Amino acid sequence: MKKRILALVLAAAMALGTTGCGLFTVQNESPADVAKDSIANEFHKGSQESTIAEEDIEDAAAGVDSTPKEVRYQDDYYEYVNQNLLSKIELAATDAHWDWFGELNAVVSSEMEDIIRELAGDGKTYEKGTPEQKIKDMYECVSNTENREKTGLGPLKPYMDSIRNAKNIDEYVDALAHLSGEFGFSSIVGGYYISQDKADSSEYSVYMMYADTLIGKEYIEGKETKEYVDMYLDYVNDMLVEFGMSAGEAAASTDSIETLLRDICASTLTTEQLYDPKITYNVYTAKELQQLYTNVDVDKMLKTLGVSGQDKYIVIDVEQAKKINSLLVEENLQALKDYSSFVMLNDVAEYASSGYVKLHDKMQNSLYGITESWGDEKIWMDLTQDLLPWDFGTIYVKEHFSQEDKEAVEAMIELILKEYETIINKQEWMSDATKQKAVKKLETMQVKIGYPEEWPAAKDMMQVTPISEGGSLISNWLVSMQVAIEAQLQQLGTKVDRSEWDVTPQTINAMYDPLNNEIIFPAAILQAPFYNSRNSDGANLGGIGFVIAHEVSHAFDSSGALYDEFGNYNVWWTDEELAEYERLSQSIVEYYNNYEMMGTKVNGDLTLMENIADLGAMTCITSIIGDDEDALDDAFGQMTYNWASADTASFMMYLLNTDTHSPNKVRVNAVLSSCDAFYDIYDIAETDGMYVAPEDRVGIWR
Ligand SMILES: [Zn+2]
Repeated sequence: MKKRILALVLAAAMALGTTGCGLFTVQNESPADVAKDSIANEFHKGSQESTIAEEDIEDAAAGVDSTPKEVRYQDDYYEYVNQNLLSKIELAATDAHWDWFGELNAVVSSEMEDIIRELAGDGKTYEKGTPEQKIKDMYECVSNTENREKTGLGPLKPYMDSIRNAKNIDEYVDALAHLSGEFGFSSIVGGYYISQDKADSSEYSVYMMYADTLIGKEYIEGKETKEYVDMYLDYVNDMLVEFGMSAGEAAASTDSIETLLRDICASTLTTEQLYDPKITYNVYTAKELQQLYTNVDVDKMLKTLGVSGQDKYIVIDVEQAKKINSLLVEENLQALKDYSSFVMLNDVAEYASSGYVKLHDKMQNSLYGITESWGDEKIWMDLTQDLLPWDFGTIYVKEHFSQEDKEAVEAMIELILKEYETIINKQEWMSDATKQKAVKKLETMQVKIGYPEEWPAAKDMMQVTPISEGGSLISNWLVSMQVAIEAQLQQLGTKVDRSEWDVTPQTINAMYDPLNNEIIFPAAILQAPFYNSRNSDGANLGGIGFVIAHEVSHAFDSSGALYDEFGNYNVWWTDEELAEYERLSQSIVEYYNNYEMMGTKVNGDLTLMENIADLGAMTCITSIIGDDEDALDDAFGQMTYNWASADTASFMMYLLNTDTHSPNKVRVNAVLSSCDAFYDIYDIAETDGMYVAPEDRVGIWR
């Protein structure tokens, strides 16, 4: 449920598994988040501190050179190029992960922290509604532990009581509907989200959310994840004790929560299925919704949610909805109440009193393999930034945005779109009519770079009440939730404004949004090592060029290809072409299934879309470069350098289970081993580790 808030208030950019809150699986994502493809997983918790010297960021990476190294590039190009860089990276006990996205995020974050510190200590009073007032007062609420202890669950207490005191299913569902309608909480039933309609992306529709599956289906059903599930169930138990249950009550409740959870997960879509509109776009009228949820008074629920009277409701996971309905019977009442109570405690944990904060932090750290907790101050600083993303965004762009860099990147985007047209026209398996439609999609693709001309309405709607006027962290957090819902409800019934941004400029990432047929490059990605005006063209093509081409490729990945140039889910391929696409996709799935990290296989199905985008991006930038060997060497080197990373074993397990991207090392080596130009410039023999026979090389866009 926090995902819903992240999507709107904290910007969708933070969504795919990111930052502080956005913990577990994509299961908890809103449909809009699921639709948007990003270049990187957005987990920043890994890099608490900036660890890399300025010159390492600024220097162009070398491809193959004469420096003696422990690894041969012919066997492992990723290790060869990154050997020096990775030797400087030692994961701190507080870190789970290092990569350039996290590194740059740490730099941005520490600048924002300086601003928070200055405001916190300046003794001044700022005008209501200014970013300075909001940041200063929010930080006071976040860091005033006395106030947090005193507040407890604060304004949420009566809502929690209404779940705990529900005497029947009807009262239970009503309690959940109030929490969903007023704050956006969703646990079992009644969660919803307003987003662009997939079949007509100029309109907004109501999507009925799936249930919160806690640690997520992948962990619950995984073969190698039992220790993490056990750890999570301990966390459930401890949270219930913290809430005031006796040890016996908490243990019994945890058991029944686990039973429900396993039952729900068995009827829940996989992450990759969530990206497939054929599976997730299911239109229901209110009457049909009543037939789906026979154990719920649907009319009453929709009224409480504030979304009654719509012509249609989109059910994302129909099988799960059927399962939930079957569980909504009196004999399950206590288990359902316990399940929803825990979800609520889990959602509120970071904002609540120290007992909950500590348990939540401990669970997160165990899941990711972090052995030492962040200090309070760092956690408070991060929370403050998460709660006021757009206010920090306005500050960020004042300091960091160069018109010249923007123009250079625009020129590169044009070059890449043109090259893609050539690549599409070369495909022998596509008919002329289909090629024309694909080219149309390129020609009409919207480009967003930097930051919005107009800031989202949510920025000003979000106001912060200081402690001196009765505010608290929880009350202000709830305001941010209400603002998110209010902003969505205001959109319902209006035409979609495609110039709106839901990604903050300080986000280190890039995205493709199929519903707007648009690519998005926030201001913060336009910096070294991704883009550097002093680097060679080859290096910048391997840097930001690869990022751009990856995003453009998403318009034609296994999910993006099902949307037309207007962003509507509308299949524009012939049956024969789709069959060929499917055949090529299957070979990509099998190709990636052969790679492994830390002894665990990559999931070729989960990572298919991102792998298609990576493979297509490499075709595109090498086609632009042609046979210039130095430029190819620069491009391969820079791309490899930009994907350097280090992970704890637990975090790698988390990525392999939930991230739609392949692990970074695989992203590099698997793509290069399938790239003909790589073999053209380097002497790779059949016996070398990087060698893949020409007939076994994969890709849709070759
Ligand atoms: Zn991507």
